[in-house]
Amino acid sequence: MKYSLNLAHLYGDLLNTYGDIGNILALRYYAKQMDTNLKVDIISLNQEFNPEKYDIAFFGGGQDYEQMIVSKDIQSKKEALTKYIHDGGPMLAICGGYQLLGQYYIGADGQKIEGIHALDHYTESQDNNRFIGDIVIKNEETNQEYHGFENHNGVTYLGKNERPLGTVVSGHGNNGKDKTEGAIFKNTYCSYFHGPILARNGELAKRILITALQRKYPDADLSKQQALEIKPTY
Ligand code: GLN
Repeated sequence: MKYSLNLAHLYGDLLNTYGDIGNILALRYYAKQMDTNLKVDIISLNQEFNPEKYDIAFFGGGQDYEQMIVSKDIQSKKEALTKYIHDGGPMLAICGGYQLLGQYYIGADGQKIEGIHALDHYTESQDNNRFIGDIVIKNEETNQEYHGFENHNGVTYLGKNERPLGTVVSGHGNNGKDKTEGAIFKNTYCSYFHGPILARNGELAKRILITALQRKYPDADLSKQQALEIKPTY
């Protein structure tokens, strides 16, 4: 294949609820159609994240127990991940991963789980309730609708420089109040969607792959890649 991208699957052995790993399979499926090989490394506890090496990072969701373990370890990768995100590295973070990129997450037992403050959102907990069910949002910039399934206790409030991934059409979203779902900061996309999000929303997978290819191969003619037609798979 003509192109090659390196993907870091952050804590892929710990955070992978509801088949979040399917996001990587979807990326690989579309990458192949873009003449691109996707090489995946799991970067987990006590392993270094090298922001120069990776073209895409994926951070899945998890339960509070795993999130607490990751929260401690990820502080040693905080600087490298923040650099990667602020330099415009493409990243997808789902649910627990989304929460950990922000300031903090208050778990269901009231314990504070520290994030890495790379993004400004924060996540509180709700009493004896979870947001569970199908969800549909609309991305205001592209007019694309994204479909997924949410299951979270955390209620997230966006911070400065963040815009939502979409406006809630049906379902709960970030906090059930302000109609926002997920977050976008530079080329980092965050969402509560499982399902997995990229398997059901190929346009978003395409956007992430095109960004990664443009960053790595700034002089390449990517018109064929940009013309790739995404057919709904749901
Ligand atoms: N434990 C977090 C919450 O309940 C994240 C859940 C998830 O990743 N599905 O909000």
